[in-house]
Amino acid sequence: MPELPEAEVVAGQIRSRLLGASLGDVWVGRADIVREGFSTVSWYPGASLQSVERFGKSVALGFVKDKHCRYVVAELGMTGLLLFQSTLTKHPQHVHVKMSFEDAREPELRYWNPRRFGRLSLLDRAGLDRYLARRFGLDPLAVSQQDFVKLLQSRRGRLKSLLMHQQVIAGIGNIYANEILFRAGLHPHVQVSRLSVARFEKLYQVMSEVLHEAIACGGSSVRDFFAPDGTEGQYKRRHLVYGKAGQACPNHCGGVIRRFQEERSAYFCLRCQSLRSTK
Ligand SMILES: [Zn+2]
Repeated sequence: MPELPEAEVVAGQIRSRLLGASLGDVWVGRADIVREGFSTVSWYPGASLQSVERFGKSVALGFVKDKHCRYVVAELGMTGLLLFQSTLTKHPQHVHVKMSFEDAREPELRYWNPRRFGRLSLLDRAGLDRYLARRFGLDPLAVSQQDFVKLLQSRRGRLKSLLMHQQVIAGIGNIYANEILFRAGLHPHVQVSRLSVARFEKLYQVMSEVLHEAIACGGSSVRDFFAPDGTEGQYKRRHLVYGKAGQACPNHCGGVIRRFQEERSAYFCLRCQSLRSTK
């Protein structure tokens, strides 16, 4: 399931190969794949791709035509992928949108989504602003340490739930929440209000390191993530706790990685991540 690093990799590849290219045809196989703005599909052909941005786990393509700007926003959560034409998928019938580009390094960008939920939005600038305000909190790569600490000090509840709360901090999902908390030595269920400023600062540093390292590795290919060019992310090899229940703790503390079943599984080492480690 793509999270921030995977979305960043997707945005980076599209930017490097398609920025400035003109859109030819836009083919939409099923109208219900578009959550919002389906009636504007006919505006897009002839527009040029002027920006590729990541917001949380989503990628927004900004198109310009006749001084007007419109966006195609793709949610990559669950199973949606943006793929270049040369990347073959297991189930080609689930390619629901095809955007062809003229005189570009890639002739086509496709949206593949076997679950068929509406996951694309076609928006103007005001629509994009509303979309962002509704869904996304602070960006973990853009927020300063000071603002991050302030944000956590103003919140209550369990730390892992908070890190994954997209309207508070946008982009971290279950894989990276587990990896960050293990490296920071923090229990997933620790109450945010009990943590010291020093702990928040350590968490901020670890969060930045993990996310940047994951981006550099092309993200994590767990289940069905591929970059647009079909490459798999290699950060999975550096996972220390995610999916490793029953294995010895990589810190060699003598403990074992546990899996706690909840809405999304928590993986942690009780010795290295004590609920009492808060100061
Ligand atoms: Zn341990």
